[in-house]
Amino acid sequence: MAGVKDYINTRVSRNREQIEHHIREILKLIGEDVNREGLLETPARVTRMYEEIFGGYEVDPRDVLGVSFDEKHEELVIVKDIVYYSQCEHHMAPFFGKAHIGYIPSGKIAGLSKLARLVEAVTRRLQVQERITSQIADIMEEVLQPHGVMVVVEGEHLCMCARGVKKPGSKTVTSAVRGQFRNSSALRSEFLSLLKE
Ligand SMILES: [Zn+2]
Repeated sequence: MAGVKDYINTRVSRNREQIEHHIREILKLIGEDVNREGLLETPARVTRMYEEIFGGYEVDPRDVLGVSFDEKHEELVIVKDIVYYSQCEHHMAPFFGKAHIGYIPSGKIAGLSKLARLVEAVTRRLQVQERITSQIADIMEEVLQPHGVMVVVEGEHLCMCARGVKKPGSKTVTSAVRGQFRNSSALRSEFLSLLKE
């Protein structure tokens, strides 16, 4: 798993003062007293948080997989329960959950921890869950050229809990399939049943 230091958004770091200024302005506009004690450090804290949660912009997700070669293994490989944390691009509100990746190698494999890095690089930005799911599948396909890929992402969206429909605890599940997974319901079922174990 990548350390947080690998995902620091240096653009945010460079623009720290301006971002802090604008957050302070927003606080004023919503009716807050920016000089009360609890809020004095808030613009700086939010900016430091942005450095981390938007650190994915500094990484090309294609570069993190660290491909190695193994001609022999052509069976299903699954890495499940990869915890992610992202921000919905519609409300800039957090959503988070787990990603599960299965693929059938055709000569190229990725270190198991590298799949977690891929998830991190894709999720530490403004995102929607559907795009996270398809981007992971597309990058796996592009970089590893496997026989097939299947990605399932589960997410809990705070924008859904806190406003609008107000359904706390409801989960959104998205999936993407490529290659052999498209044509084989047996393969999809095998993947899904292994997720339950
Ligand atoms: Zn949202």
